[in-house]
Amino acid sequence: MRIKDKVAVVTGSTSGIGKASIMKFAEEGAKVVVWGRTEEEVEVVVNDLKAAGKEVLGVTADVSVSDEVNSAMNKIKDHYGTIDILVNNAGITADAQLMKMTEDQFDKVIAVNLKGVYNCGQAAAKIMAEQNSGVIINVSSVVGIYGNFGQTNYAATKFGVIGMTKTWAKELGRKGVRVNAVAPGFIVTEMTAKMPEKILDAMKGKSPLGILGEPIDIANAFVYLASNEAKFVTGTVLSVDGGVVL
Ligand code: NAP
Repeated sequence: MRIKDKVAVVTGSTSGIGKASIMKFAEEGAKVVVWGRTEEEVEVVVNDLKAAGKEVLGVTADVSVSDEVNSAMNKIKDHYGTIDILVNNAGITADAQLMKMTEDQFDKVIAVNLKGVYNCGQAAAKIMAEQNSGVIINVSSVVGIYGNFGQTNYAATKFGVIGMTKTWAKELGRKGVRVNAVAPGFIVTEMTAKMPEKILDAMKGKSPLGILGEPIDIANAFVYLASNEAKFVTGTVLSVDGGVVL
């Protein structure tokens, strides 16, 4: 158990990568927090974890709304007394080519993927700096390194997440807080299920391994970065993408 008794929060842990990660964190001994926007979805994952005998709290908050984020963080602090690990995982897409993208599509993705990471990172950093320890992991994407056709808004947020990661690593290192990013390649989840089959096939073809990733591949990277095995690792971007090169 590599993160035994650590309090681990994963935003957007009701599905996909987030759900696999919260399960993996619990398996590795952490006291976990399931975070989503709707109580019903949160409850399903909380109940699964409780049934497996894990220590778990559920919170409901939209990461793009700072008041909701601050109350969720306070609820976690009141319940567990601390926050040791935050994974800023919640994210959405609203794809369109540049000339067809609407203002609403642009603003929605910026609000969740960029402002949401800022809101949660800021609230958690205050708690972590006070206790002089903590780990923040921000979820970027291969798209945040190479860009992607039809994803002006999403790519902007995922590049931005890397900028925040490096800035926070510099600001928070002396306060005992490590900050890293993970850049997943194409992972089979509900998000990719919305993509056309031919794009997924093309993505497979671009990986030297010839396969798409699974949520657990990303969860394993989170556990490494969250654990003491990564005590000398901060400000980095760990690509977990099957070697995909665009
Ligand atoms: P997913 O299955 O669609 O899950 C997204 C999660 O985020 C859900 O739990 C959703 O919960 C939550 N969420 C969405 N908007 C939210 C908000 N405003 N406030 C709080 N929670 C919110 O997505 P995924 O594929 O696992 O992706 C997870 C992360 O990995 C994202 O940041 C994504 O950009 C990144 N990523 C994914 C891939 C991939 O191939 N799948 C590749 C690279 C990067 P509710 O809807 O229940 O609220």
